Amino acid sequence: MSLFNDIMRFDILTIFPFLFDSYLEESLIKKAREKGSIEVNVHDLRKWSVDKHGTVDDKPFGGGSGMVMRVEPIYRAVCELKEDFLKKYKNDAPSSRVILFTPRGKRFNQKKADDFTNYKQMIIICGRYEGVDERVAKYIADERISIGNYVLMGGELPAMVVLETVSRLVPGVVGKESFLKERRKEGGFVEYPQYTRPENVTISGKKRRVPGVLLSGDHKRIEEWRKEKKRIIN
Ligand code: SAM
Repeated sequence: MSLFNDIMRFDILTIFPFLFDSYLEESLIKKAREKGSIEVNVHDLRKWSVDKHGTVDDKPFGGGSGMVMRVEPIYRAVCELKEDFLKKYKNDAPSSRVILFTPRGKRFNQKKADDFTNYKQMIIICGRYEGVDERVAKYIADERISIGNYVLMGGELPAMVVLETVSRLVPGVVGKESFLKERRKEGGFVEYPQYTRPENVTISGKKRRVPGVLLSGDHKRIEEWRKEKKRIIN
């Protein structure tokens, strides 16, 4: 497998591309992009608009307040991005997944993030306004995803949530090579309480100590303590 084939590519479609600027330029996501573990392209949906004014929305059929994102710019964008990706792979057909954010979608979780790592290209559609013409959900997107039971103003924060959760599962993005082996278990991700210095600290007048076992140096006991305290996030 070539180096290129190992890269997971995220193509994000949004009408607010600048929202991603500082996010992509900080911390582990920045490093992962620099190392070539992931490729993230943020696209201004207006590039595929229906007219020279960059229009991507219109009034809802049936009346009601607000605007709805039109289907054609999204369809054009998705076709072009899939084609561009395929061209790079030549005969080695890669797998793409198109996801649309909506609060009516399937709830995103660690298991879903795990599933997404099976794809080489993720095309992520960020909705705005009163939402997206339903034909995108029916005929263009492979999945409709919600990040929780509340309504946000747009799909940009959900895009960052999905990008970060999935990227974390790409080998080499977080910690040493052993990190994923140790923590990606039992159909989810193993999490347990962590402590650091100082060993003792006074909080609201009471001494709060680090559990003794963690200071014991006894790796077997530490392992057992972590097993006892662990939660599988899935
Ligand atoms: N009426 C729209 C619907 O039923 O899909 C929701 C409109 S919402 C005000 C604007 C956009 O924010 C949505 O199109 C979606 O992309 C995003 N959004 C809002 N809440 C979300 C959630 N809980 N999870 C994922 N995306 C969400």
